[in-house]
Amino acid sequence: MELKVGGQGPDDYEMDRERLYLVGSQCSACQAVFYPQQQVCARCGSREAEKIRLGPQGTLYTWSRVHQSTPEFQTPYVLTYVDFPQNVRVLVPLVDEVSPVVGMEVELVWAPGPRLMEDGTLVNLIHVRPVNR
Ligand SMILES: [Zn+2]
Repeated sequence: MELKVGGQGPDDYEMDRERLYLVGSQCSACQAVFYPQQQVCARCGSREAEKIRLGPQGTLYTWSRVHQSTPEFQTPYVLTYVDFPQNVRVLVPLVDEVSPVVGMEVELVWAPGPRLMEDGTLVNLIHVRPVNR
């Protein structure tokens, strides 16, 4: 079975000394940052972009508890928008059994285990969890 990141490919994340990063793109003309990576800048139309690491930490901007989803996802779970210091906001699920708080510092982590999708693929999902201080 192929191990994939949910909705993402191997170019969309990087590991470095146990730290997990998302990989977005930054427009070479206007510096706008996007995740996932974009071939054409949505702000200025330039086709020149560089890869940029996002994370590993960010700030929880807002969240929502999901009560209905597709069968492979056990509900409820919490989806968050996280603001990364690289000036981009990304939708990322929160690990289970954590109460979301707007403004809390979070870091990217793998979900506890891969999920088996209906098509037989194993999907490993990137989540966020509170930063331990
Ligand atoms: Zn641009």
